[in-house]
Amino acid sequence: MKFPQNHIEQLSKLLAEPKNIVIVTHRNPDGDALGSSLGWKFFLEKKGHQITFVTPNPYPATLKWIPGTKYALNYEGEAARKTANDKIKNGDIIFCLDFNAISRLETLGEAISSSTAFKIIIDHHRQPEDFANLTFSDITYCSTSEMIYDIILDFDETDKINREIAECLYTGLVMDNGFFQFSSTTPNALRVGAELVAKGVKPEYISERVNNNFRENRLRYFGYCLHEKLKLVNGSQIAYMMLTQAEIKRFNLQSGESEGLVNYPFKIDGVKVSAYFSEEADRVKISFRSRGQTDVNTFARTYFEGGGHRNAAGGKSLLSLEATEKKFLEALSSLKL
Ligand code: 5GP
Ligand code: MN
Repeated sequence: MKFPQNHIEQLSKLLAEPKNIVIVTHRNPDGDALGSSLGWKFFLEKKGHQITFVTPNPYPATLKWIPGTKYALNYEGEAARKTANDKIKNGDIIFCLDFNAISRLETLGEAISSSTAFKIIIDHHRQPEDFANLTFSDITYCSTSEMIYDIILDFDETDKINREIAECLYTGLVMDNGFFQFSSTTPNALRVGAELVAKGVKPEYISERVNNNFRENRLRYFGYCLHEKLKLVNGSQIAYMMLTQAEIKRFNLQSGESEGLVNYPFKIDGVKVSAYFSEEADRVKISFRSRGQTDVNTFARTYFEGGGHRNAAGGKSLLSLEATEKKFLEALSSLKL
């Protein structure tokens, strides 16, 4: 058994009869958010359930190729929101995948909070909130997709994993562990990867889709950020880039297209923390990455209303870009490198 036996038994019982199920994931859904949700959706459909999948805002076009994205209901769209609200209100079960704080759902959070459906969290981030009836939370997992695989394994139903489900789960797995590079890459992550390849995933296909699928503008934007915007402070141990809305617009950068950029500064020997700030209409969105024991989860939580993992976290600031930079530079003294 990979998970507590009573959790698996409770879940198994809940899924014994066909149910109306809603799956929700976090704002700005990434590869793991979509991969775990869609893999779980296809698996539950094979068990005879009715599934509605809702995202708080649109998924990025860069991830459209993940099987099943066309089924995602974007809660920002009026018609989709109506359908989603109806399903959430009348659903039997709501699965909350790849997040553990209601605030990550933005306006969708109110509908979830007020629903009387049975709520289940499946997530691998730190410090889960207590808003569900049943919580699968384990930070030793590199991804929610890896957790979904192991839940199916505990059900002894891996025979239901077809190539479509395997592609969804493998995509989430490798996008969250950097294709088996990050510290979250455990023997279990590699084992699950191997099992999914045995189910028909072509690793090269997924890698090409994720890594070598840029629009020209996107690569030129990366070049601009690294050449013109990268700043190194604290004896070159901390790297950061701050991009204005105008700069982002100039390169016609779409949502999801900055994915991966925050990792580039680690190519410089000695860099321990990297941060990427992008100015949006109503906030500055922030991505933090670190190496070793340096804890950007606590840093993001303390100063930027965010969180995540020790080595990968996100947050936001409602200050101007300049004021956000000042706050960031002042807060740095609290980071143990
Ligand atoms: P990214 O920088 O790729 O957006 O996010 C890095 C990690 O931090 C991901 O695991 C993501 O789920 C988490 N994360 C990103 N933004 C937030 C946030 O605003 N709040 C919390 N709690 N986690 C976040
Ligand atoms: Mn994840």
